[in-house]
Amino acid sequence: MALLRGQKLKNCAQCGKLFSPMRGERLCRDCLLKEQEFDMQVIQYVRDNPGVSMREVMEETGASDKRIKRMIQEGAFTNLDFGDDFFYPCSGCGRPIRNGAYCSDCLRRLRKETKRASEIMQIRVRENKQMSTIERLDALAEREFERDNRVLKRHFSKSMYGDIADSRRGG
Ligand SMILES: [Zn+2]
Ligand SMILES: [Zn+2]
Repeated sequence: MALLRGQKLKNCAQCGKLFSPMRGERLCRDCLLKEQEFDMQVIQYVRDNPGVSMREVMEETGASDKRIKRMIQEGAFTNLDFGDDFFYPCSGCGRPIRNGAYCSDCLRRLRKETKRASEIMQIRVRENKQMSTIERLDALAEREFERDNRVLKRHFSKSMYGDIADSRRGG
């Protein structure tokens, strides 16, 4: 197998064969195709049996509980009529849900946290602006100091500081 430099190999989670994942896939191409085919069969079964329970789908198609939950989460059965036992745990609190990654409570909480995070962000941006104002003042003070320094150097150029001032200008 020809490999691009730096390409990482991975063991297929299904058959264990080494393959090079393109976008972090966990299955090799063969297993991915088989998996998709199987998913299609499960979807077809639900489509053919409106209101079917998850237990029945598992028994009839051989699909695992985990697999069906993943499929619900991925939206495989959206717009299909399926039983009340079709659900999977919310990623936030584990409560059973039927679409999305989070239940409505977790979504509300997350939105609030996101809002808070963006507020903190805005405060930081403001602080940075203030910081740069201080930096600008510092730079101004430094320029004034240098100007005074030049005046002093000019003033003392013919005096005991003359040598130092000259050598600095030279170097
Ligand atoms: Zn495989
Ligand atoms: Zn939740």
